[in-house]
Amino acid sequence: MSSITVLSQHRERQPYFRHHPPFLSVIIPMYNEEEVLETCHQRVCNVLDGLGKHCEIIYVDDGSSDTSWQIASQFNSQYHSIKSIRLSRNFGKEAAMSAGLSAVKGEAAILIDADLQDPPELIPDMVAQWQAGFDVVDMQRSRRLGEGWLKRFTAAAFYQVINRLSDIPIPENVGDFRLISRRVIDEINKLPERTRFMKGLFAWPGFKRVTLQFDRDPRLAGETKWNYRKLIHLAFEGITSFSTRPLRIATVAGLLTSFSALLLAVVVLAKTLIWGDPVAGYPSMMIVVLLVGGVQLLSIGLMGEYVGRLFIEAKQRPLFMVMDENQTSPTFAAGEV
Ligand code: UDP
Ligand code: MG
Repeated sequence: MSSITVLSQHRERQPYFRHHPPFLSVIIPMYNEEEVLETCHQRVCNVLDGLGKHCEIIYVDDGSSDTSWQIASQFNSQYHSIKSIRLSRNFGKEAAMSAGLSAVKGEAAILIDADLQDPPELIPDMVAQWQAGFDVVDMQRSRRLGEGWLKRFTAAAFYQVINRLSDIPIPENVGDFRLISRRVIDEINKLPERTRFMKGLFAWPGFKRVTLQFDRDPRLAGETKWNYRKLIHLAFEGITSFSTRPLRIATVAGLLTSFSALLLAVVVLAKTLIWGDPVAGYPSMMIVVLLVGGVQLLSIGLMGEYVGRLFIEAKQRPLFMVMDENQTSPTFAAGEV
């Protein structure tokens, strides 16, 4: 039996009773989001109630130092199961999302930020696309409200660079807000890498995808958890875990400099032989020394980046550690909701 048949059998749905796998899981990673959590929970629950199906909300507390965990672990809902997972420290949003994905019971999952920058009201549209047969619904930001020009510029530059380098296209201006179907969740959960560049990992499995446009709202309250240091780290991680092309570029740069050096050697030698010009040429010598030195250091650094990745992967440490878990069932007693 081909794997495609197996997959399509897996997608057959049953009527949704409370004890069956939830229709949809919503994963909400949070890090010090106490100010927005209540509103977030309310808005997400309202939208899910409108779907009329038993869903699941998974809160992943990424080592918050405020009261986010206390708030999230108290949440309950009339029609939906609430799971809260507390990681043992701040592992970063990518790990928090992986923790959420590994706990998903639903037939599809939606990843959404706690700060309500990704409007939960779009969930029904995403579900409609999924029911129309798409496995991945990417949400593309048509406008980035509440973000300065520098952030927008660096974001655009990042997508340019990574898409030139990476073998798989990484959709531009698509954050982590997306819906993925069960079979894609299973594939992503199987990916073994420690450095989890989620934008790339979600693009990697392929499957049937569709992109919806939306306006990204400004943050409801609190501050962004990303600073430029973290973003640069993410950019490096993204590039080095999805492409080995920089290594090729280093090789080509090395070849080009060697070739230019050879040409220059011929010129210098000829000049010395013809005009006997023993001392002049200090500027050209400095330029060559600096250029070659720079290219060498850059290439070594680049190789170091990849060796560093290998080192991290070789250690096989877990992606995250769970310190606490909490699960509440729907308070609504009837079988089918
Ligand atoms: N987040 C997280 N761990 C972190 C940083 C952020 O779980 O180390 C969560 C955060 O609580 C929020 C989401 O990831 O729900 C997006 O973070 P943020 O709003 O700071 O990023 P931005 O929207 O500015 O890109
Ligand atoms: Mg945000």
